[in-house]
Amino acid sequence: MEFLWSDEEKSLFSEFERLCREKIEPKAEKLDREPSLSLIRENLNILADFGYLGAPLPPEYGGLGLKWVTYFTMSEYLAKACASTYLSAMAHTLLCANFITMFGTEKQKRKYLPELSQGKLIGVLCATEPGCGSDLAALKTKAVRDGNYYIINGTKAYATNGPIGDLFIILARCSENSQNSESDNKNPKSKYSGITAFIVERETPGLIVGTPYDKLGCRGSPTSDIFLDSAKVPVENVLGGVEGYGFKQVMKVFDIGRVGMAVYSLGIVSACLEESIRYSKERYTFGKPIAAYEDINFKIVDMQITVDMGRSIVLRSAWAHDSGSEDAGVLASCAKLFIAERATKNASDALQIFGGLGYIKGTKVERLYRDVKLGEIGEGTNEIQRRIIFKRLTKEFGYS
Ligand SMILES: Cc1cc2nc3c(=O)[nH]c(=O)nc-3n(C[C@H](O)[C@H](O)[C@H](O)COP(=O)(O)OP(=O)(O)OC[C@H]3O[C@@H](n4cnc5c(N)ncnc54)[C@H](O)[C@@H]3O)c2cc1C
Repeated sequence: MEFLWSDEEKSLFSEFERLCREKIEPKAEKLDREPSLSLIRENLNILADFGYLGAPLPPEYGGLGLKWVTYFTMSEYLAKACASTYLSAMAHTLLCANFITMFGTEKQKRKYLPELSQGKLIGVLCATEPGCGSDLAALKTKAVRDGNYYIINGTKAYATNGPIGDLFIILARCSENSQNSESDNKNPKSKYSGITAFIVERETPGLIVGTPYDKLGCRGSPTSDIFLDSAKVPVENVLGGVEGYGFKQVMKVFDIGRVGMAVYSLGIVSACLEESIRYSKERYTFGKPIAAYEDINFKIVDMQITVDMGRSIVLRSAWAHDSGSEDAGVLASCAKLFIAERATKNASDALQIFGGLGYIKGTKVERLYRDVKLGEIGEGTNEIQRRIIFKRLTKEFGYS
């Protein structure tokens, strides 16, 4: 494993860092305080113009074809500049466009990926439901074949980009009697059986987007329910062309998506670190800057450790994905869990360093403190990551 960046990559990083600092970061506070669909869309357009929304997608479908190590290194700048914009961009690229890249038919890739890369379509993944998130296989949304269509009924919850979405990947369960059922899980009683991913366009009759949630953090990234009321979806929109593979597909998509969530937390800690260093030098108590006190220093040191170790584990898991290692998924869970847990503590420390000011809206660390918690929930909670990692241990060391 070696990370020596080429001159081209170095200049890509510095250009992207500048873009995030100059064009995205100044709007982060406004986006949090007055969430606006047009403002988040504007940010996504800026990122699309740079090529970032299609950065890891193959060039033959309009992407930049970047390696995961390069894409995730760039991504930290965006997560640091504005967690909300990062979350929306990440859900678009990693959960929707990359899903189609990994599993779509040639026709689906040609039809959707160029416009997703250019940000002309905004992508959404609808896996979670009001009744299930961690236990995704318990989903209740149903798809019933009717001639050349499927009729889909159900409710999806927590859809990032729902309110601005153009293309929705919907996980639904096909009826057990379906003629077309060719699941990799042949047992019809299995809870994974029949789960299928569908590509559903915004204009599809019966697809209804709910109003944006009022969230604790990441407020600028719009999230909503998605209702499917006899939504009529053409057969050719079964993702990958065959029913019954949706559960396995989405788990693979999360393997890379979780590196994205690790970077979400990493970017926030990086911002906390910068803010904490700045303020600790400016704020005086008892005749000294608070940077003179060990209690403050050690909080800052802990943030620095998260940033350094976090970058290492993100790069290692991105590299594992680039090289097709079978450990790539479990490393992503380790990265996400390690950084997210520390990040929540680090953001709390950053707020503490600001004292009373940290508790007031408009202070950057107050926003970071609210944004950070999502890292422990989205794309699988900490508890679920521990289960995934333990499962790997049971395989390797035969725990029972
Ligand atoms: C802002 C935001 C954006 C999101 N974006 C998307 C999106 O774009 N698409 C999408 O499909 N979903 C999205 N989600 C949903 C997210 O992935 C789920 O919220 C998450 O996976 C947890 O599921 P849940 O909320 O149903 O919690 P539950 O599964 O109900 O879990 C509740 C608690 O029980 C714990 N728990 C559950 N099972 C176990 C177990 N076996 N062992 C130990 N503890 C357990 C959990 O860790 C958690 O602490 C988003 C969520 C948020 C908040």
